[in-house]
Amino acid sequence: MTRPITTRSELRAALGGSAPGLVPTMGALHEGHLALIRRSATENERTVVSVFVNPTQFGDPADLARYPRDLDRDTRLAFEAGADLIFAPTVEAIYPRGFATVIEVAGLTDRWEGAARPGHFRGVATVVAILLNLVRPARAYFGEKDYQQLVVVRRLHADLALPGAIVGCPTIRDPHGLALSSRNTRLTAPERAQAVAIPRALCSMRELAGAGERRVDRLLDAGRRELIAAPEATLDYLAIVDPNDLTPLETVQPGARALVAVHLGAIRLIDNVEVLPVTPTHGAGGSGL
Ligand code: AMP
Repeated sequence: MTRPITTRSELRAALGGSAPGLVPTMGALHEGHLALIRRSATENERTVVSVFVNPTQFGDPADLARYPRDLDRDTRLAFEAGADLIFAPTVEAIYPRGFATVIEVAGLTDRWEGAARPGHFRGVATVVAILLNLVRPARAYFGEKDYQQLVVVRRLHADLALPGAIVGCPTIRDPHGLALSSRNTRLTAPERAQAVAIPRALCSMRELAGAGERRVDRLLDAGRRELIAAPEATLDYLAIVDPNDLTPLETVQPGARALVAVHLGAIRLIDNVEVLPVTPTHGAGGSGL
């Protein structure tokens, strides 16, 4: 097990022109990240895991300051899951003195997380472009958990002709259906109990759509009814959107995505699910919710 690499030149030397799999993370690794790393390890000769708490995607300095950091633990877990190299750059290695460029993905970032967190996707798009150019991976792995992020990354990757392929991976959930997130550790026990209303809401919408309901207003009503079971949750948004351009739909089409964001205590949780499969599946469910 080698130490994490922290500079651009060390990274270049370690890669030596090979095109590995890349799993970009902000650390605090959990099973959701490890699933991406395992997948990359099966599909690539070498896997690079980047661990970088990207300051430019945080609006609130306090949120950035309290982001959990434990590089030793992350390094151990990433290697156990099949990583070959950990790239844990300093802020200066990513944003050297005089850094002046930002990447703005227009339109796709106007709504949902983009509206709730101004500047967030500018930071994400900029750091992802830098990481893809530094590592030049054959494949880069992103979770569907952050669905809007995945759509934004696919767009910027295509628009800027960045190297490799973008691979979207399914959301990993706990046994109650709650999508794994480093933010979950900050939920109190009662908040955690209420948080399961989020996957339940998504599940109820998917079941109703599976039973033939196509009207989005009715599906959203069903989702909101489940969220009432979480009295301390305040709903930020619940929507059913086109999976490619993220615009709200009135009628559910195959591939349509339900997006949800909820405030629970001090934590903001997001989740999403495909409401109606693109290709019909047999039996109930399909995404483990
Ligand atoms: P983060 O460290 O939160 O920036 O996440 C790094 C990558 O892991 C992103 O592509 C996320 O979408 C992905 N990810 C985070 N949580 C999960 C999860 N529960 N299931 C699958 N992927 C996830």
